[in-house]
Amino acid sequence: MKVAIVGFGKIARDQHVPAIANSGAFELAATASRHAHAEGLPAYPDIEALLAAEPDIAAIALCQPPQVRHAAARAAIAAGRHVFLEKPPGATLSEVVDLARAADDAGVTLFASWHSRFAAGVESARDWLAGRTIRSIRIDWKEDVRHWHPGQQWIWEPGGLGVFDPGINALSILTRLLRGPVRLEAATLEFPANRDAPIAATLAMRTTEGAPIAADFDWRQTGPQTWDIVVETDAGMLRLAEGGNRLFVDGVERPLPAEGEYPALYARFARLVADGRSDVDVAPLRLVADAFLAGRRTATAAFED
Ligand code: NAP
Repeated sequence: MKVAIVGFGKIARDQHVPAIANSGAFELAATASRHAHAEGLPAYPDIEALLAAEPDIAAIALCQPPQVRHAAARAAIAAGRHVFLEKPPGATLSEVVDLARAADDAGVTLFASWHSRFAAGVESARDWLAGRTIRSIRIDWKEDVRHWHPGQQWIWEPGGLGVFDPGINALSILTRLLRGPVRLEAATLEFPANRDAPIAATLAMRTTEGAPIAADFDWRQTGPQTWDIVVETDAGMLRLAEGGNRLFVDGVERPLPAEGEYPALYARFARLVADGRSDVDVAPLRLVADAFLAGRRTATAAFED
């Protein structure tokens, strides 16, 4: 199946292009981006031009910032194309619900992807936790924004999520590990004086059974970076490290499958299209929305790139 990428930025180049190239199911056929293109392929300035010129491209991967993704997704769905949404699936919950409905009505697949759910250790961790009683969960997601998001203005604007842009990856793993819904109780959000999105946040949540979940997201960490989830249970301690890609049980590392996150995402997208289904889980975005709804806001030092 031919696929086009819209928004040819960092994640499109780093992950989507190689994952599509190595996928047996997809062939990259074009891009739509204002300032960039893939060498040797048809390139369009925007999705409308792409959709009009390329009726044979059946699938569209949307890799722009979340603030502009809804309009593009609506256009692709209206043109009868299957849609792969980068995470987060939108800037608001209601626009994602709108897309899910539109895809259903049009009979096309909508895949709201959460790449961290496809990290190597997540399914093994979910299996290990089944049948155990969780006592507490601790999430530390701390990285250097200057290293990972240099010059990305959209990430600091309303709808860009700030530190929740990486933090939502932790929440996507959390909501996959647990079998019941997670409830947010309280949050604090630190906004730089000159920015519209938080640079740090803490979340207090609970599992369905009442076990506490504490999450600490921070974009000011220099030196070693931390993407860890630790689960204390009645029968041992589980630690997912490096964004879900390494798994330890009581301190002993477990061997994991080698498939990367994006190849697994494209394999999932291919299966959904073949089965005529969609996959739209808003649970991680709902927790972020709740943190913005219920969180206490504080001002912190201005941030310059
Ligand atoms: P990026 O490097 O800024 O690329 C996004 C591209 O979208 C831009 O290069 C730009 O290309 C296009 N675009 C269209 N409208 C835009 C607008 N109004 N403002 C800015 N750019 C616009 O961002 P990214 O890191 O690839 O992230 C894109 C999405 O992927 C985000 O939702 C992010 O959470 C997700 N993601 C990123 C990573 C990562 O490691 N970077 C990992 C996983 C997921 P043109 O100017 O050519 O149109």
